[in-house]
Amino acid sequence: MSQKIQSIKGMPDVFSPQIELWHFIETLSKKVFTQAGFSELRTPIVEDLGLFERGIGEATDIVEKEMYTLLDRNEKKLAMRPEGTASVVRAFIEHFASKGEMDKRFYYFGPMFRYERPQKGRFRQFYQFGAEIFGADEPTVDAELIQIIVQLLKELGVANYLLQVNSLGSASSREQYRTTLLQYLNKISDHLCDKCKERKDRNPLRVLDCKIPECQNYLQEAPVILDCLDEISKKHFDVFQNYLSIAGISYQLNPRLVRGLDYYEKTAFEFTSNQLGAQNAFAGGGRYNALVEQLGGPSVAAIGFAFGLERLSQLLEHLALPKNPVLLLVSLGSAASEHFFKQLPELRKKYQGQVLAELSEKGLKAKLKYANRIHADQVAMLGDDELQKGVVVLKNMQTSEQRELPLNNWMDNL
Ligand code: AMP
Repeated sequence: MSQKIQSIKGMPDVFSPQIELWHFIETLSKKVFTQAGFSELRTPIVEDLGLFERGIGEATDIVEKEMYTLLDRNEKKLAMRPEGTASVVRAFIEHFASKGEMDKRFYYFGPMFRYERPQKGRFRQFYQFGAEIFGADEPTVDAELIQIIVQLLKELGVANYLLQVNSLGSASSREQYRTTLLQYLNKISDHLCDKCKERKDRNPLRVLDCKIPECQNYLQEAPVILDCLDEISKKHFDVFQNYLSIAGISYQLNPRLVRGLDYYEKTAFEFTSNQLGAQNAFAGGGRYNALVEQLGGPSVAAIGFAFGLERLSQLLEHLALPKNPVLLLVSLGSAASEHFFKQLPELRKKYQGQVLAELSEKGLKAKLKYANRIHADQVAMLGDDELQKGVVVLKNMQTSEQRELPLNNWMDNL
């Protein structure tokens, strides 16, 4: 036997029944976002490496050590996208901002790639569903985006979650905070883990993200960014929170929420659930007003978010999705097989469910055994006797009740 080729670590296959859950999430998400004025944008999986280096930030974990990079045959540096926002911004600049179309709402769906250590809820290829709003800097829009996410979660049936919000302020308030925080981190440096020691000088805000309890202990007393906000950012955050309250959306203020990407400013948020284990964040996002300009476009305000599909579907595993009814055609003899075979396309068009066919030369007993194994709801049986009589025998597999229906229009009586 040849050696078996296996899937790449952290890049799982997705199939039934999980895939049906994904279809359910995708269909509902597309509906909710379309109703709120978003249209789908599909960007390529591979982009210029520079897009992510400039977009996400060179001192972030993603760019420093998690990206799948490659050289094409022309030695051009490419990367498999680690997230969706940078690509959407690139496409927005290329096709819309360049024509003066600044007010745009997009959603996207697709695989992302990060070379992280795989564990429950963390993969190297994972799927995100995300949305971005361009051309609006009002805090009401930040609250509206959250309102749409909350509506979607409600329609999906996800109830057990926590929304955490924070403000990262403007670039200048973040700069001021950076200095204050660094002074504090230098004081407690001896108690921090090696990773935090290393992070502190390059990107001190990321130290706040550390999950190690000892670090978290010492970070309790760290200065918080909310104390460094300038007047405009403060007002933005107040109005945003007020609108969340008006919408009846409960949330928790988390002044340590910084998120892993450098482009966020002002509003940042994360949805977590204690049903998920260590990787408990299933959605996150925030405002990124400087990114469009940073990537070569005009100055256009923007905000966005992304769901992790694997984690969101984990929250919905208990859900009993409606099952499509299954009709199985069972023939006995070649004349019956030919008859059923010809009818297949019309039957599949008319029947509200799946139409499967068992037209082999096996006996009736084996075919009915198969019907049980695939949980067929109805079995249509046809043999030489039925052909002669001009009927089809339809068996309800739940009640075992059998009916004879006219051969030429039996599908109208299903
Ligand atoms: P981020 O782009 O890092 O803000 O992540 C947004 C969402 O994507 C997170 O809340 C997770 O649900 C999901 N996510 C991020 N990284 C991974 C990963 N390696 N595996 C699975 N899901 C992920």
